[in-house]
Amino acid sequence: MDNPKKIAKQIIIEGMVQGIGFRPFVYREALRLNITGSVRNLGGSAAIFAMGTPSAIEHFIKALENCSKKLPLAQISRITLSDAITTEAQSFAILQSGSADGACFISPDLPTCHQCEAELSSTHNRRNRHYFNTCTACGPRYSIIEALPYDRANTTMQEFEKCPLCQAEYTACEDRRFHAETVCCRSCGPELLFKNQEGLLRQEAAFDQALTLLKSNQILLIKGIGGYHLACSPFDREAVARLRRLKKRASKPFAVMFKDISEIKKHCVLSPAEEGLLTSSARPIVPLYLSGDEPFCSEVLSQSSTCGCFLPYTPLHRLLLEKTDALILTSANINGSPIIFEDEAALEFYHNNRQSISGVLYNNRKILRALEDSVARIINGKPQMLRRSRGYAPLPAAKIEGEAVALGGDLKASFCVATGGHAYMSQYFGDLINCTAYEGFKREIKSFTGLFNAQPTLAICDSHPDYISGNYAKTLKLPLLTVQHHHAHIASVMAEHGLKRVIGAAFDGTGYGEDGAVWGGEFLICELNSAKRAAHLAYTPLVGGDEAARDAAQTAACFLINENLPSAHIHADILKAAIQNGLAYPSSSMGRLFDAVAALLGAAYYNSYEGECAVRLEQLAEGALKACVLPLEMDFDIIENTESLVISHSKIIQLASTAKDKGSFALGFHMAVARMVAKVCVQIARREGIYQIALSGGVFQNKLLTEVCAGLLKEQNLEVYLNEKVPPNDGGIALGQAFIYSQGVNKACV
Ligand code: ZN
Ligand code: ZN
Ligand code: FE
Repeated sequence: MDNPKKIAKQIIIEGMVQGIGFRPFVYREALRLNITGSVRNLGGSAAIFAMGTPSAIEHFIKALENCSKKLPLAQISRITLSDAITTEAQSFAILQSGSADGACFISPDLPTCHQCEAELSSTHNRRNRHYFNTCTACGPRYSIIEALPYDRANTTMQEFEKCPLCQAEYTACEDRRFHAETVCCRSCGPELLFKNQEGLLRQEAAFDQALTLLKSNQILLIKGIGGYHLACSPFDREAVARLRRLKKRASKPFAVMFKDISEIKKHCVLSPAEEGLLTSSARPIVPLYLSGDEPFCSEVLSQSSTCGCFLPYTPLHRLLLEKTDALILTSANINGSPIIFEDEAALEFYHNNRQSISGVLYNNRKILRALEDSVARIINGKPQMLRRSRGYAPLPAAKIEGEAVALGGDLKASFCVATGGHAYMSQYFGDLINCTAYEGFKREIKSFTGLFNAQPTLAICDSHPDYISGNYAKTLKLPLLTVQHHHAHIASVMAEHGLKRVIGAAFDGTGYGEDGAVWGGEFLICELNSAKRAAHLAYTPLVGGDEAARDAAQTAACFLINENLPSAHIHADILKAAIQNGLAYPSSSMGRLFDAVAALLGAAYYNSYEGECAVRLEQLAEGALKACVLPLEMDFDIIENTESLVISHSKIIQLASTAKDKGSFALGFHMAVARMVAKVCVQIARREGIYQIALSGGVFQNKLLTEVCAGLLKEQNLEVYLNEKVPPNDGGIALGQAFIYSQGVNKACV
């Protein structure tokens, strides 16, 4: 029988194909189908030369297209085929990486896989209790990658030379560590270290000492993937109080890492979607409702009805949690600063705080960039990012044309690089007013554009004249596009869902408005790159700057003064005089309205962290809902203006100042906001013929409000879109900015 003539193809595969075991997969498929040739990493893609019979090649390409069945982490964005010349190749080889242009996905850091986890506890395995166990499917990635292609030499694993056994696994095609760039074992990999005043311990001794101290209620610094955590038992009141003093953190709840899902189920209500999020490859912190009384000492959650839960994602976490069941793991920093990620900084932090911290558990593998734990939850049945960092960055969040860098905003800073058809989102940097955060932001813009080989032709920033990110944009020596803050919020939803024309409700704390006022309760008609303000919350004159915005009691006083209602605030007279003398600034912020209502009800008076008062108000409403308390009837007035609709909250403020039942009011207020959103959207939808609604801005982190809003809008046959891949808070606006640019630049560039 004739052998069919062999053909040859060049196959370029773009997408998430590096750092997840893609080349070994290609190698095994080639062997199975009797295909000769080669595979190599090429910049961010994989390049395959394949030679075989036409039917073998066909099967081979099918297998590549369906690779995610065998490689759950693979994401293929494009396969390009071209004919090649047949050669004498007798085998299939994994070649040295080359570099090339083209879209590339860099793998985020991955949690320890089941197989590697099993080895940790298997006494006969040579990787038993190996604190840095990884394979092609798991381990650190983005946090240790210096450059592409993803080879050991381009990571901070380059310092650890593979022992002969590890080298053998690395080169054996049937091994699950075949071409695993992070492969190592106890004899050749990084070393676990413990340092305190008594000296330095290594490996088992280091682990045992750390565990003993944690069990005796001490606070430790523990090195993770994207930085250092402060760790202690959530059951010891004294330790947690010490941790709060150390972090200068008044009341924001601490996240708790649990041994496993069943341990979380003992304390929290967990839906299948939430379980999916907790066990997803990003291993985010997921805020969950407590099922009963707070299981820890009250200092951990400080009266919050939710607990931020997460699961171990490194072998070290796994081994520590097996012995402790639950640990507070919170970013090592002082309130507001970014997470500490360098060993010298961590050791110095320990040295300066020895009265509170009992030692440092770390290792000699360098972390290249700081990555906080991500925070995500399920809202309206879909994931919502609250903080997008480790495990998600630097994956693209949308497809976008053009080459540009969008700098986002100053709070919850993150930037977005558009290149090669994708919008790559950076990690979270915190607030840029913090010098360390700003330094990290600047450093990572350079590193990030280098990693993705991006050559931005334009920079995009918020239209706020005093934003730090905006001032930095001016130093980039690129044409500059400025984008209105709330337009960017709505555009971030349009980018994620590929929408061209929407009615957007952008509710947040503060953003610079086109008229110079502080906006934050906005309805915008957004089409391609343009936005028109269609409705907004009535202006209230507020006194003071950013610091005053934290003071909900003062905000409430300003709302009362605006209604000519008596205010018992100690500075009521001064505030009144300031307003009368034009020293206040007009604000249409929904965030401030939530603050005012929270303070008027006596639910909360001060935001020690962003959104604290609104969170208290939501929890009050949730509590009322669970107790079947009826919502108090109230409504906004919608007033037709020449230019846009103005939404008056006068009646609500009047009612709040005399409210008797806090829970009933809080619930009624949430319902009134949701009804108002539906009503305004319906009115605009009829007039404009737009039936797609985008909700974004920090206020939509309120689960109760968002879910009721979405429900009411759906009842009106409107389609509702929310952020899923980037946060609805200011951490997502860089994506919106990049989207607006991609829809055509027609605004003035400076
Ligand atoms: Zn693994
Ligand atoms: Zn080894
Ligand atoms: Fe905002």
